Amino acid sequence: MTRTLITGGAGFIGSHLAELLLASGHHVTIIDDLSTGSLDNIQHLIGHERFRFAIETIGNEMVLDGLVSECDVIFHLAAAVGVQLIIQNPVHTIETNVMGTEAVLKAALRYRAKVLVASTSEVYGKSEHVPYAESDDVTLGPTARNRWAYAASKMVDEFLALAYHREHGLPVVVFRLFNTVGPRQTGQYGMVIPRFVQQALAGRPLTVYGDGAQTRCFCNVQDAVRAIAGLAESDAAVGQVFNVGSTEEVSILDVARRTLALVNDGQEDGWREQITLVPYAQAYAEGFEDMLRRVPDIGKIDGAIGWQPTIPLDETLQQVIEFYRQSTR
Ligand code: UDP
Repeated sequence: MTRTLITGGAGFIGSHLAELLLASGHHVTIIDDLSTGSLDNIQHLIGHERFRFAIETIGNEMVLDGLVSECDVIFHLAAAVGVQLIIQNPVHTIETNVMGTEAVLKAALRYRAKVLVASTSEVYGKSEHVPYAESDDVTLGPTARNRWAYAASKMVDEFLALAYHREHGLPVVVFRLFNTVGPRQTGQYGMVIPRFVQQALAGRPLTVYGDGAQTRCFCNVQDAVRAIAGLAESDAAVGQVFNVGSTEEVSILDVARRTLALVNDGQEDGWREQITLVPYAQAYAEGFEDMLRRVPDIGKIDGAIGWQPTIPLDETLQQVIEFYRQSTR
């Protein structure tokens, strides 16, 4: 049994990870400032004998120190995420991501706790060389464009974590999450699938940005947290960076079509009329850069811990539809 701490544990991914760790018999403490996370996400865990939570920012050094002193493994997921949030609040994004990770690593070093650091496929930037492997070069746009601030802040997190490992022997593992989806994800910060599902359920047009030909690979959150927990158990993973994502590549237009088909019980006629194409400049801001394709190479994590995603996109879409049908959010 391990004593674990999840920063950002009331978030979409953190709450699913908490559930998995509790089911595996571990102790779970979370710290979350509820900036993008929500008490709704962890309501069902409150009262569990191995679960504790602190509603606090990881910027509170004293609280963080106390929590880290009582744990063996930290899953550092607290971050400013979502393209929309990043574009609207660039200062907050950079500061939260860089200073937050620095604080967590410093505290971990004091108690020699293992740290799993969440990073993102955004660090690959707009490289057109797919699939993306962990050792690939990255291609970011200019600093004048906000989107890249997120990628750069996460790259600093990765450099810092790996430096703590090399210089101080701290056991760290970095995982780069590709598009992760499932119940509890909110569309409020731009994520496409919860947005499409909510739009379809409300009978509103689905807002497809650009021409919808851009592709992504959507990994079910249950598969993703299984990968993260698996990496924490592996000694061979220490000091390494891993992609975590699905390889089922799909265009955003196809995601819209499939969402509508599932919401309308297989009825596909007229789906085109239920979609509005929104130019990027209108959706985000003038000069916004999107990547045309994003596909992970997952050979490294498969080799290290024998992980592959198992849940197909249609099943994930169905789960999200069920979640929003039952939810008041
Ligand atoms: N997108 C869209 N409509 C929306 C929100 C997003 O067409 O209402 C597109 C977005 O431009 C991107 C893809 O869906 O090409 C995935 O966007 P998301 O913000 O979910 O993740 P990203 O891959 O950009 O990090």
